[in-house]
Amino acid sequence: MDTEVLIIGAGAAGIAAGRRLRAVGRSCRVLEAGGRLGGRAWTDTASLGAPFDQGASWIHVAERNPLTPIARAMGFTLRDERRRVRDILLVGGRRASAAERAAHDAAAEVWEAAAAARLAAGGPDIPLAEAVPRDGPWDATLSHWFSAIISGVEAERFSLRDYVATALDGANLQVAEGFGTLVARLGEGLPVTLQAPVARLRWGGDGVAAEGPWGVLRARAAIVTVSTGVLAAQGIRFAPDLPEAVQAAIAGLPQGLLSKIALRAAGAGRLGLGPFARLGRRVEGPGDHPMSWMLWPWGRDQAVGFIGGEAAWALAREGPAAAEAFARAELARYFGAAEVDRSFASGAVVTGWAEDPLFRGAYSHARIGCHGARAVLRDAALAEGRLRFAGEACHTRRAGTVGGAWESGERAAEAVSAALAGKPAA
Ligand SMILES: Cc1cc2nc3c(=O)[nH]c(=O)nc-3n(C[C@H](O)[C@H](O)[C@H](O)COP(=O)(O)OP(=O)(O)OC[C@H]3O[C@@H](n4cnc5c(N)ncnc54)[C@H](O)[C@@H]3O)c2cc1C
Repeated sequence: MDTEVLIIGAGAAGIAAGRRLRAVGRSCRVLEAGGRLGGRAWTDTASLGAPFDQGASWIHVAERNPLTPIARAMGFTLRDERRRVRDILLVGGRRASAAERAAHDAAAEVWEAAAAARLAAGGPDIPLAEAVPRDGPWDATLSHWFSAIISGVEAERFSLRDYVATALDGANLQVAEGFGTLVARLGEGLPVTLQAPVARLRWGGDGVAAEGPWGVLRARAAIVTVSTGVLAAQGIRFAPDLPEAVQAAIAGLPQGLLSKIALRAAGAGRLGLGPFARLGRRVEGPGDHPMSWMLWPWGRDQAVGFIGGEAAWALAREGPAAAEAFARAELARYFGAAEVDRSFASGAVVTGWAEDPLFRGAYSHARIGCHGARAVLRDAALAEGRLRFAGEACHTRRAGTVGGAWESGERAAEAVSAALAGKPAA
């Protein structure tokens, strides 16, 4: 054997698993297909002249997130970000009045309460869209915001049970140095091999063998942390095939998409807005997909636009030039096209999570009726508990987050370690 445990993927789950195995005295090797640590937590320090999180940027549910105390202890600079407070909220072509803002906030409370109440009423799983109000002036906007943007999928295709179970609450912290910087630093010192894609994983009674263009590595156990998008696309071939229940769980947890389109200010003017300014607008009719914006985070000259769901998939297919044009047209609704041309340099940074075969989307959601799939994947204990899955999709409460991926990685490491010791899995 080359090592006790192979970990496939050096994102948050893989790093957490490696650290936990090291802590309990097990040897491991992390095989990462890409050229860096952190996976979907990636701080790009090159493109915009200051840290820019291409993937995760908020430490969600900060009060219970394992990375909050770690970030504080490591001296990272954190900022509490309130939900839903928008510096500009547009209605048609104008700014919302105080009464309209109050109506928006009240409708948001009703929207969220309706989803929870419908779930509590029992019955089979239904699309989130059927559980929430649809006829009020803000309802389409709230579905767009909570589902398409935050969860990366339209409410029509999102399991109500999964939405409620994985909804984010509590504080959100931003990291000045970048959330990706934090995750990557936590992987330093682990035995990681970069540029080592695993093409095939053989598993059976006598252990596991990972194969790739770089060669073969054998171990007593393995933890697979690649996204469900990668698993569904057979980015790794398993021999023998995965059991049908595991394949069904993977198919039930497709990746949604959240994309960021970031522009850089051309001069010192800041459109009259302070650091961390938030912009959003009402959905103006069917087929309207507003972006959500954060301007000048940490006083930097960056404007970061968010687009999620089917509009994001469409832009990913059309390419970065179309995405930049879309983002500029969105900003022009607030400031006018001439002001946008004056205020922003040409050239945008457009994230590519959909197109990248190492990710194939942003994070997972459950299809209607597939809310139990996360537990199936989390609890799959193949080869007598020596082949396990971990990652954001395997967390039943904090799916889609770095904190969820982290806890999932730790849990899988403990389970694999117990299996190697001949103890029943926790
Ligand atoms: C745009 C965007 C914004 C987000 N915002 C937030 C946020 O604000 N807060 C938050 O908590 N979360 C956020 N998330 C989600 C968060 O980034 C993920 O949930 C989390 O990082 C997933 O970690 P993971 O370890 O499960 O998977 P990954 O990070 O995907 O790690 C898996 C690793 O496996 C590697 N890999 C793939 N195929 C192979 C192969 N064949 N062989 C070897 N290695 C392979 C990949 O390169 C990757 O490094 C966001 C994600 C995106 C995309």
